[in-house]
Amino acid sequence: MRASAYGDRMVSCSLCGATADEPPLTWTRSVERGATHYYCDACSRENVRAMESRLDAEWF
Ligand SMILES: [Zn+2]
Repeated sequence: MRASAYGDRMVSCSLCGATADEPPLTWTRSVERGATHYYCDACSRENVRAMESRLDAEWF
C-alpha cells in the first residue's frame, strides 16, 4: 500500500498562514499540548526576537 506522496506533509504557518508542501528546514516546529504548530522563517525570526526580549527581561 502506498501512502500518497503529495500533500501529506503540507504545513502552514500558524502565524501568517503561509503554506509549504513539507516543513522547510528554516521553519520552526513547536509542539503545544499535543498539537504541532509551524512558523515560517519570517515568523520564526519574530518569535525568536520576542523570546529573546522575554529572556532579557528575566535576566536583567
Ligand atoms: Zn509566517
